[in-house]
Amino acid sequence: MYYDTLEALAEKYDRTPKQFAFAARSREEHRLWREAAGKRLWEITGIADCERTPAGAQKTGEEQKDGYRKESWQMATEPGILMPFYLLRPERPNGAAVLVLHGHGGGKELTEAFAEELAQAGFLAACPDERGSGERRERFEQGDEEALRRGNSHRELMQAALGFGQSLIGLAVWDLMRLADVVADLPEVRGGKLGCAGFSGGGQQALWLAALDERMEAAVTGGYFYGMRDSLLRMSNNCACNYVPMMWKTMDMGDLGAMIAPRALWIASGESDPLNGQRGLENVYEQVAVTKTAYALYPDKGQLVHHVYPGGHVWCGDGIKEFLLEKLAR
Ligand SMILES: [Zn+2]
Repeated sequence: MYYDTLEALAEKYDRTPKQFAFAARSREEHRLWREAAGKRLWEITGIADCERTPAGAQKTGEEQKDGYRKESWQMATEPGILMPFYLLRPERPNGAAVLVLHGHGGGKELTEAFAEELAQAGFLAACPDERGSGERRERFEQGDEEALRRGNSHRELMQAALGFGQSLIGLAVWDLMRLADVVADLPEVRGGKLGCAGFSGGGQQALWLAALDERMEAAVTGGYFYGMRDSLLRMSNNCACNYVPMMWKTMDMGDLGAMIAPRALWIASGESDPLNGQRGLENVYEQVAVTKTAYALYPDKGQLVHHVYPGGHVWCGDGIKEFLLEKLAR
């Protein structure tokens, strides 16, 4: 006899209708669905409760590198909230910018290798610390270098935000939207295209940002695309940043992907990534299939790629720079 709850919640998930499950059959239906779903996500993530403030972006340092200049910046994203970020400014800009988003285990320094590859290909790369990560951890979690690599304040921030009906991913996406405002206005990028890319927690941010901000004309999401029942609800010891109030009654991962159609979307999945859940890739393919039905409404665009590679929860950059060059560069 067991007296636990989780399996019953998983069953409840199965019999709970999702208000914004994707079902559009025309481009017009897709547009209307996207608008309504976006509004709902804006509410349940708490983005609607984020507060505007002048960005006051300022440079705090710079360093010359091979083919680009690495600058340190900071900006305000809400009253009293400062976000540090790197800008990698290419010597030969291709007119596009990519927000390069880190996952767990550190901050913006985790993405530097990939950001450098992009900057050397002409992209302006912007690498922020996510809320609660890197230099943005809460003060009680800061101190030594070891802690910087290891820790984040996601659980603490999520619990603090919940009482406002907010979520960490909502706060993170808001910050990225404000960063996009600043980046879009830089001379190398003005009038050009924006994209975003990340793996794991960075893949989560890239997916959500692209779903909610149409300025993202290309998105790369690695290690984060799987059905929520198996990978988030049943694996409930995942980081708190994965959870959004009312999400199980709203939509699943494939629907988030469908919101990005017909803009360019690269989904990368490690074959043996344990985060795919107990059914493995099946739990990934089911969601990609939902996203595909949205892209099928735009057969002339051909913008969705699903890259499945051998390996577990590891970043695979194969083909991504080329994809971003094709979709974003002048
Ligand atoms: Zn987290």
